[in-house]
Formats: sequence, structure tokens, C-alpha cells
Amino acid sequence: MQDVIIIGAGITGLTLALSLHQVGIGCRIYEAAPEIRKLGVGINLQPHGVRELTELGLGEALERVGVATSEMGFYNRFGQLITSEPRGRAAGYAWPQLSIHRGELHAVQLAAVYERLGAERVLLDHRCVGIDQDADGVTVRFANGNSVRGSVAIGCDGIHSVVRQALNPDEGPPAFHGINMWRGATRARPFLSGTSMVQIGWLDVGKIVIYPIQPGTDPDGTQLINWTAEIRSPEAAMVDWNRNGRLDDVLPTFSSFRFDWLDAAALLEQAEQVLEYPMVDRDPLERWTHGRVTLVGDAAHPMYPRGGNGAVQGIIDARTLAGCLQREATPTAALLAYEAARLKPANDVVLMNRAAPPDTILRLVHERTGDRPFERIEDVIGAEELAAVGDRYKRVAGFERDTLARRASLVR
Ligand SMILES: Cc1cc2nc3c(=O)[nH]c(=O)nc-3n(C[C@H](O)[C@H](O)[C@H](O)COP(=O)(O)OP(=O)(O)OC[C@H]3O[C@@H](n4cnc5c(N)ncnc54)[C@H](O)[C@@H]3O)c2cc1C
Repeated sequence: MQDVIIIGAGITGLTLALSLHQVGIGCRIYEAAPEIRKLGVGINLQPHGVRELTELGLGEALERVGVATSEMGFYNRFGQLITSEPRGRAAGYAWPQLSIHRGELHAVQLAAVYERLGAERVLLDHRCVGIDQDADGVTVRFANGNSVRGSVAIGCDGIHSVVRQALNPDEGPPAFHGINMWRGATRARPFLSGTSMVQIGWLDVGKIVIYPIQPGTDPDGTQLINWTAEIRSPEAAMVDWNRNGRLDDVLPTFSSFRFDWLDAAALLEQAEQVLEYPMVDRDPLERWTHGRVTLVGDAAHPMYPRGGNGAVQGIIDARTLAGCLQREATPTAALLAYEAARLKPANDVVLMNRAAPPDTILRLVHERTGDRPFERIEDVIGAEELAAVGDRYKRVAGFERDTLARRASLVR
């Protein structure tokens, strides 16, 4: 097979292109944007995602631009430590957890695509507007009037996927449950170990996730630190998608988040740019594959960003699909095999991110203390219960250390 049509050149689409190239299958990527820019802010890749990118030969390049996160700490809004656990290599994984600017990750992938597949394989300014299929192949149509024929079409076009919409015309907009996020990155002095990630507070009183995304420091001793502030809104009014955020809307909630180990409020005050997003996902689908068309990444399973798994699940989808296209006798068999392997695991992560993500620890402590400081954390929550929250999440999201070490490569 030499003519896989990839719709969308995000992290998932580029992983798929590189993986298909690795197994000798030809593809073209069609991207709506007229140019590719370094968009977004920080993103976390857990070890199971870094493993796949390492098996694509991108591990060293990514470690040069990302931070190998060494620990994750949970704190209440008074700055008291609830628990902390080692992460990535520090936790004995063979691969690091990487905290990285989304734009840097994307740039490393795009450079590899240009080098290995050739720039002519990435067609910009090609917004997919429709797909037709017959017994012999698919025809994908674009807003610029072009159309292209291939053996399969893969929707990697993100949460607002046109491909998903075409396959599920009755589905409504993404689901919003009243949590808004303000995201930014600020130059500041390193905190704690310099490679620590922290989650502080709880949604009802303001929750903030903070981690560095620049390895080392600049000559002035600062590094780029990413933060995501989350607040549950009583009105549950959905804000604009991806607009510039107003600091005044978020700062009052976090003005007391000043601790001797980190001045979180100052990070917000000193941010160069603030982006505002609603926290949205979509209900799981019962199928992704329709004949010669399937969905991958956010197009298939957009999820709450509460477990560092959105990008990773798309990366694993892409690797699994490439392996199926390599192994199966026909394109339609490959797309069905991919769906059989990935639909339930990915949908389980969507539901887990709603019901019991890792920050469940923060909720339990907030509720049990009545939002007051505690004397001894052991009186609020035991070590076993704390560990169980994290272990359950890792199991569902597919990155238990020993299981990951034993699992065969997805692309062979
Ligand atoms: C601009 C941007 C910034 C982001 N920033 C962050 C961040 O800071 N932190 C974080 O954790 N996550 C961020 N994400 C989300 C994160 O990247 C995704 O959850 C994850 O990587 C899944 O990637 P994806 O490739 O499946 O989807 P996406 O990253 O959404 O990529 C989809 C791609 O498809 C293209 N596309 C859309 N519609 C069409 C169409 N009709 N035809 C052709 N192409 C189309 C889009 O332009 C985009 O390039 C961001 C996503 C985007 C698009």
C-alpha cells in the first residue's frame, strides 16, 4: 500500500506519517493551516508516549528541548505537601516523562517528516471538507477545490474533526462541564528540584498545575515555566475557544498562592501571554472505522487534559495503526484491527479523565479537610489510598512501569 491519506498535521498525524515511513508505507499529509507555526504551551508526555517517539528515533532531539520530569507533587491551596512521587526515569522507567512546549515537540516531528519523507509530502492549505469511498478507494475533497484519491483516509484533524463529523453527522459540539482553563508560560527561577511538576489546590477554590518546559536555565538563572490554572465556574458558561485570556479573570482566585517554595501567583502576574480554553471532551464513540476511513488522536477521543495523556494516546493510536497497516492483508482489515486494539483502551482514558484522574487526590483532601490546612496528612488520607489513585490511573492509561517494560513494540 502506498497511498495513505492523512488529514491533519498535528502531533498524531505526524507520528502516523513517520511510523508509516518506518514500515515502508507511502502517505501524504493534508493540513488545513496555510503555514505551520509553533503553537500552544506546555504539554506532558508520559513514558509510554516517549517510548514510541524514541522508537521513531526522536528521543534525543526531544530531550534536548524538553525537561525530563523527575517528580510530581500534590499540594493543597495553603502550600502543604500532600504527597510526591518520582516520575519517569526517576521512577525506574526506561523512558523519561517529558514536559515540553507543544510547538517544540511539533517542530522536532515536522523536521523528521521533511527529512525522511520529503517536504512535498506535507500539503498545507488543504482543509478537508468531505470524503467519499467506494470498493476501490477513497476520495478526499478540500476547501481549495482540490481532491485526492487514496486507499484509506485517516482523520487526524483534532477535536473539531471534519472527518468525525462526516462519520457521525448527528453528534453535537464538544461537551463542557463548567471548568475553564487559563494557560501560560513565564520566565522565572527554577522551583523545587528544577525538574518538578506540581498540582496545587482544587477546582472549587482554584487549581493550578505548574512545570518547567525548558531544560536548564538561561544566563540570568531563569527557565520557562508552564502553568495551567483551572476554575470551576458556577454559571457553567462556556467561554470562547482558544482566545487570549484576561489575567484579571483568574488572578484574584490565585492571589494567595504564594509559598516559600514557589510564588505561583507571581507566575501568573508575570506571564507574557495568557491563553484561555474551556475544558472540553466528547463522549466516547462506539466505532471509529467506517470501511476505508478511520479516526486517530483527538479526532477519535478528545479528553480532559487531566492526566498528561491527550497527545500520548494519539501517538499510541498512530503507532498501532501503522503496525496494523503493515501486518493485515487488506486496508479495511487493518482499520478494523486498529479499532479493535485501541477503541476500548482510549475510551477508558476519556472516562477516567472525567471520573478519577490523578488530581482526585486534591479533591479528596479538599473535601475531607473542609478546605482548611491540615496538621498531619496521615490523619486525612493514608499512603495506600494515595498510591491507589495513581496506580489505577497508570493501569487504565497504559503506563504501569513493569507492564510497559514487558510490552512488545507496536511497530516491528
Ligand atoms: C494549536 C494547538 C495548540 C495546542 N496546545 C496545547 C497545549 O499547549 N498543551 C496541551 O496539552 N495540548 C495542546 N494541544 C492539544 C494537543 O496537542 C492534542 O491533545 C494532542 O496532541 C492530539 O493531537 P492531534 O494531532 O490528534 O490533534 P491536534 O493537535 O488538534 O491537530 C489536528 C491538526 O489537524 C488540522 N486540521 C483540523 N481540521 C482540519 C481539516 N478539516 N483538514 C485538514 N487539517 C485539519 C489542525 O490544523 C491541526 O494541525 C493543542 C492543540 C492545537 C491544535
